Amino acid sequence: MVLVLVEQSDGKVMEPSLQALTLARSFGQEVHALLVGAAADLTQHGVTVTHVAEHVGLGSYAPDAWAAILHQRAVSLNASAVLAAGTDRGNEVMARLAARTSLPLAANCVAVAPGPPVTLTRQRWGGSLLEEARLQSERPLITVAPHTVGVVLEPMPAAIEKFSPDLSDGDLLVHVVEHVTAAGGGISLTEARVVVSGGRGVGSKEGFGMIEELAGLLGAAVGCSRAVTSAGWRPHTDQVGQTGTKVAPEVYIACGISGATQHMAGLKGAKRILAINSDPQAPMMLNADYAVVGDLKEIVPAISEEIRKSR
Ligand SMILES: Cc1cc2nc3c(=O)[nH]c(=O)nc-3n(C[C@H](O)[C@H](O)[C@H](O)COP(=O)(O)OP(=O)(O)OC[C@H]3O[C@@H](n4cnc5c(N)ncnc54)[C@H](O)[C@@H]3O)c2cc1C
Repeated sequence: MVLVLVEQSDGKVMEPSLQALTLARSFGQEVHALLVGAAADLTQHGVTVTHVAEHVGLGSYAPDAWAAILHQRAVSLNASAVLAAGTDRGNEVMARLAARTSLPLAANCVAVAPGPPVTLTRQRWGGSLLEEARLQSERPLITVAPHTVGVVLEPMPAAIEKFSPDLSDGDLLVHVVEHVTAAGGGISLTEARVVVSGGRGVGSKEGFGMIEELAGLLGAAVGCSRAVTSAGWRPHTDQVGQTGTKVAPEVYIACGISGATQHMAGLKGAKRILAINSDPQAPMMLNADYAVVGDLKEIVPAISEEIRKSR
């Protein structure tokens, strides 16, 4: 069997975890899910058993504790592989699991074929290169690049097994002490169906007022490029790209963003791109489904105005 760490956010299973469950079925073995703290309905996702870790110290996210729990379950179930979504938490927990067990970790995989040795296709260089690798390991540790695998439903009546992990004080030492809601209306960049994103072309911190306005009208999240976070116009949490957040909206509206490869690495999951740029030859414009050539300071407020008129 293969064991998959499943993450939840606001009581809902996160999409990248469902994608990891789909990829885990490539092993052709039973898929078991591991959740920390609370159970979830995984009956549509080909899961045979849902293991739920319960412990008084697990009130908040504690990466070492999660790694310890995964380790204990993987050993007791004799898991042939352990997977997680390649989210910030998934990668963190799996890196800690790898350090604990001295097992190799293959991060950001998009496909696997059972072994031994297991064959993996994984993203390198922020997703601009796909590497095929063979992993010789008694228990491959794998994270799945978010939004690269489509969720395929497979109904199965997953049994739920609750258990109490054995955690030391050290496992719980690093833990989240406070959650601070990000400015911008609380729409998560990773889960947003529409993202309105601004680059250096927006010109200033104040310039983001029009980006926020359009995002508000569309029920969208606000994103930005690294040029913007480096200038201090927006917080790093808004940054899209290789060293920022990977997004997967239905529409990504790129305003004054040139489309450097490191930015595009965060857009692989976007279904459609609408680019607004004064330079028709900017890479973002060449990669866009819809491109508007012109000054965003005129175009963005004009779009907002049209939306307001149509309501
Ligand atoms: C290791 C590494 C990691 C990186 N990670 C990231 C990352 O995660 N995310 C990221 O974004 N970048 C990342 N970068 C930086 C990246 O290489 C680019 O420098 C950055 O994305 C550029 O941001 P930009 O497109 O906003 O700015 P620019 O490249 O300066 O582009 C500005 C664009 O705005 C247009 N423009 C200007 N004025 C207007 C106007 N009035 N109306 C319309 N259009 C206008 C211009 O034509 C231009 O295309 C990384 C770089 C490195 C080396």
